[in-house]
Amino acid sequence: MYADIIVDISHEKLDRTFQYLIPEKMRGTITIGMQVEVMFGNSRRTGYVIDITDEPKLAVDKIKPIDAISPKAVPIESELIALAAWMRRSYGGTMNQALKTVLPVKEKRVVQKKQTILLRIDREEACDLLEQLERKHRTARARLLRQLLEHGAVDRQLVIQKLNITQAVIRAMEEQGVISIESEDRFRNPVAHFEQKGYDLTLNEMQQEIVEAIDSDFKQGAYQTYLIQGVTGSGKTEVYMELIARAAALGRPSIVLIPEIALTFQTAMRFYNRFGDRVSILHSRLSAGERYDQFMRAKNGELDVMIGPRSALFTPFENLGYIIIDEEHEGSYKSENVPRFHARETAVARARLAGASVILGSATPSIDISYQAQLGKCRRFCLKQRVNERALPQCHVVDLREELHSGNRSILSRKLRELMEERLAKHQQIMLFINRRGMSAFVSCRECGEVIKCPHCDVSLSLHNNGTMKCHYCGYEVPAIRNCPKCGSKYIGGFRAGTQKIEQAVQQCFPNARILRMDYDTTRGKDGHAHILSAFANEEADILVGTQMIVKGHDFPKVTLVGVLAADLSLYAGDYRATERTFELLTQAAGRAGRGEIPGEVVIQTYQPQHMAIQTAKEQDYESFYEQELAYREMMCYPPVWNLLMVAITSPSESEAQICSEMLAGWLRENRRELAIIGPTDAMLAKRNDNYRKVLYIKSKNYEELIDVKDCLERLIFEANYRQTSVQFDFNPMNGF
Ligand code: ADP
Ligand code: ZN
Ligand code: ZN
Repeated sequence: MYADIIVDISHEKLDRTFQYLIPEKMRGTITIGMQVEVMFGNSRRTGYVIDITDEPKLAVDKIKPIDAISPKAVPIESELIALAAWMRRSYGGTMNQALKTVLPVKEKRVVQKKQTILLRIDREEACDLLEQLERKHRTARARLLRQLLEHGAVDRQLVIQKLNITQAVIRAMEEQGVISIESEDRFRNPVAHFEQKGYDLTLNEMQQEIVEAIDSDFKQGAYQTYLIQGVTGSGKTEVYMELIARAAALGRPSIVLIPEIALTFQTAMRFYNRFGDRVSILHSRLSAGERYDQFMRAKNGELDVMIGPRSALFTPFENLGYIIIDEEHEGSYKSENVPRFHARETAVARARLAGASVILGSATPSIDISYQAQLGKCRRFCLKQRVNERALPQCHVVDLREELHSGNRSILSRKLRELMEERLAKHQQIMLFINRRGMSAFVSCRECGEVIKCPHCDVSLSLHNNGTMKCHYCGYEVPAIRNCPKCGSKYIGGFRAGTQKIEQAVQQCFPNARILRMDYDTTRGKDGHAHILSAFANEEADILVGTQMIVKGHDFPKVTLVGVLAADLSLYAGDYRATERTFELLTQAAGRAGRGEIPGEVVIQTYQPQHMAIQTAKEQDYESFYEQELAYREMMCYPPVWNLLMVAITSPSESEAQICSEMLAGWLRENRRELAIIGPTDAMLAKRNDNYRKVLYIKSKNYEELIDVKDCLERLIFEANYRQTSVQFDFNPMNGF
């Protein structure tokens, strides 16, 4: 038995592992992540076990044995390395890719020093000296001394900048023996400029009940996964904060994950109010140095809470208390880079390694997690009402087919237009929302609403420029049609609408209205999001037009009307989660209306008014949506009842991509007959950056079986030794490939 060991945890060194022999007496004890002592060159060093194999990489007599298992307490690196090993096994990719995802970057940098000036003489002496200095008009020295008498110690940088005292004065006083200077590492604090307004709030009965239940499990060491289901404004965040405060009192820090960077700021502000400088944030817009500092502060025990998007999950906290995932249903929790991990699953894995609890929050929990709750693997709590008991908005569903029949071909239905006129006259604000996803267009009939679907997979076919319609799961392909197969109408075609077009159309309708547009194009710059959102919040515009990014989390009390222009767009995104996403988006969009004093209204325009997602969103009926959607997934063998493994093949050589995909599918069909194999076929983007892309899907009820299949395929790919082809795995993918 041999162990692969890294002796230094810096990013450039992760690729360099060294093999050591596991001596007889340590076999069975040594596990991945464990800290060990080895001879490295001529010195004894600490290293980490990152893999265990039975194949020697060198001549056996050249492999040195591991000296000892480190006697010190388990450091945080061990936990994260064990987590990386779990990720590698669960999601594919290499150990290095997994390690680079979980380990904080160790990099050389100039450590800033925090220097504090202390008084070295006693108070009486200092008072005498102060008198003398004032008499001699040595005002700079006197100023410094007065500060020290008042505060005991002062920050050196502050003294120079704010008190206008020179370096020479400080040095002179130091030489006189009046003051001394102490120095420690200074870590940058990205929330230092926040203001702490004080915290004073009593939880209501429902909140209190949830807190006590979770806290009592926690105190007994019965760590679990919990789901708190409650609409926005029902008080979930207050529950998180109370639990975090209680864990912090026991010396156990927590991680709070939010779905996107844009929400970091407002969430961090609220936490700062309660936890002050014991809160920090971690996201990709911080500089490498700032990020590193936050890791160090976490490691040194200076923090109780770390807030950030997906990657904050790997904050190196020892004695982790809670991992909280807010808006758990969001797709951004799934990584699109290898290893393609899901933050929720990975959080549960980390919590298991650390002995911590996971709390998931959402108004519209993912089907996956509701299913877990149904199976009893996760305990569900509900917060049924908004804290201030504000009514949910009234919701109208408009049938766009009827609009066409009565001669209205505009983007705005008569109902929506009428309500918009009313709001504009009253100087209230409007949000218009288009839930477009991806770039593929589905094919639908504007006369009867029929959508052309794959006969094998029940997802909508995508229209391609070459005049065909195609299924991105199985590759089924037919020529594009000219007439609707159901009603014969010629109003059938690819459905595509951009935000820019909508903005123009709305401006034509309401020439005097002030319109802001928020989409990928208008938010590309740094702080692009924030600019548009704050302009709208300051009522610099009457109407905000945008993609799904406008419906998330932001609070605009003056918005009393929300229009969803074509709810169908996300219904036919060509993947099995389309209905779920539509329900989520519609529910969230509706939640944007009437957050202030005036009750809100919502208009959902659609060609499919009877569709389950639209009906249940209109009624805000999660239970009914869940039941119907789960029955559908079960029938079609989709997750969460079944599991789906996507195998994505990329190659600059078309023939090699073809050969590889067929080899894998052939091997599976021959050797794993119990599995459902779908494909291979061209990916949704069949060619990208000069790479040909193929895709293959495997379905099984048993997740472990899919992991085993992945291991087999990895071995086959390794043995086939393709020169240019790479293969990636994605378990229960969120997006197509
Ligand atoms: P969620 O996280 O579910 O959106 P929040 O925790 O943000 O809900 O609560 C919504 C608003 O209600 C916040 O302004 C919060 O401060 C306030 N709030 C929550 N719980 C209480 C409470 N028990 N008493 C008074 N105000 C509360
Ligand atoms: Zn039709
Ligand atoms: Zn198909």
